[in-house]
Amino acid sequence: MNQVTLTDFHLTMQVMDNIDAGVVIIDKDHTVWAWNTFMQAYSGITTEQIMGKNLFAAVDGLPVEWLKNKIASTFKLRMRSFSCWEDRPSIFNFSNFSPVTGGSALMYQNMTLTPLKSLNGELTHICLTITDVSDIAKNKTHLRESNEQLTHLSMTDRLTQLYNRGHWEACLAEEFDRCKQTNVPSTLVMFDIDHFKKVNDTFGHVVGDGVIREVSSLLRRAKRHSDIAGRYGGEEFGVILPGTTAELGLYFTERLRGRVQESSVAVDIRSVTVTISLGVCEWAPWMRNYEQWLELSDHALYQSKKNGRNQTTVYAVEGCAEQDVIKEKALG
Ligand code: GH3
Ligand code: MG
Ligand code: MG
Repeated sequence: MNQVTLTDFHLTMQVMDNIDAGVVIIDKDHTVWAWNTFMQAYSGITTEQIMGKNLFAAVDGLPVEWLKNKIASTFKLRMRSFSCWEDRPSIFNFSNFSPVTGGSALMYQNMTLTPLKSLNGELTHICLTITDVSDIAKNKTHLRESNEQLTHLSMTDRLTQLYNRGHWEACLAEEFDRCKQTNVPSTLVMFDIDHFKKVNDTFGHVVGDGVIREVSSLLRRAKRHSDIAGRYGGEEFGVILPGTTAELGLYFTERLRGRVQESSVAVDIRSVTVTISLGVCEWAPWMRNYEQWLELSDHALYQSKKNGRNQTTVYAVEGCAEQDVIKEKALG
C-alpha cells in the first residue's frame, strides 16, 4: 500500500467508526472482514474478537435462515437489498436506552445489504448496514395506537361501552344492504326500559345510570358474538341479529327480557328492578331503506308498551290491518 491509499484507508476507517450506523463486511462464507464501533458498542463483541470469524457462529440470536437467504440473493442478483423494521423489527438482538420509557428497549432496525466489488470487478463481499430506527418505530406505533383508541372512542358509548348511535346506525345500514344483496333476512330488535323516569325520580340519576349499565351488561351476555348491539338513545337499545329470522330472534328477546326482570341493582339496603319492552322486525325485500326497518321495529316496540309493557311484539309483515297501513304508508 502506498502513502495515498494508506491515507485513504485511514480516513475511511474513521468514517466507518464514527458513523451512527452499524457497518459489517462479510464474504461469501460469512466471514467477518469489518465490524465498526457501533457494532462493538451494541453487541459487546470487539472487532478483534470477531475479525476472521464466521458471523453466524460469533453472534447469537440472528435470524440465521432468513439472513443467509437474503445474503445469497444479494450475491446472486448483484443488487442492494433492504429489510424494513415494519416487516422484521430487528435483526441483531440489540437494546438501547430509551429516554421515553427510561429503560432499555429493543432496538428497531432497518438493514441494507450492498454487494461490494473487488479490484478485478468480482463480487466477493457484502456490506451490511444497520440503522437504529427505534424513534421512528415508537412514534409510528404510538400514532397507530392513538388512532385505534380514537376510532374506538368515536364508536363507543361511554356509559355502557356498547356501540353509540352513530356507529350502530352505520352497521344497520350495512346490514340492510347485505340483506338486499343476499336476500337472507336479518332481524332488528329495539327495546326500551319501562317506566324509567320513575327510577330517576325515585332513586336519582346516578342509580338510573347504574340501571342502564346493568341492562347493557345483561344484553352483552345474552347476545351472540355476531349480534350487533348499540345504545340508541337514553334508555333505548338496538340489536341487529344477522342471518336470523324473527321467530328465532324471539329466543333472544325472551331470554333477555327474563334476565332483566330477574336482575336488580342494589341501592343502599333496597334494590331496583326494571322490565323492558321489545319490538322485533325481520327484514323484508319490499323495505325501502334501513330507516323504514327501524321505524317498523320501533312501532312493534310501541305496541309492547301499549299492550302493558314487559313483553315482545313481532312486527308481522303480512299482518293485521294496522300494520298494512304502515306498510302502505312506508311504500308511499
Ligand atoms: P316508558 O315505559 O313509556 O318507556 O316510560 P319511561 O319513563 O321509561 O319513558 P321514556 O322512555 O320516555 O323515558 C326516558 C327517560 O330516561 C327520560 C330521561 O330522563 C331518562 N334518561 C335518558 N338518558 C338517561 C341517562 O343517560 N341516564 C339516566 N339516569 N337517565 C336517562
Ligand atoms: Mg322507557
Ligand atoms: Mg325511552
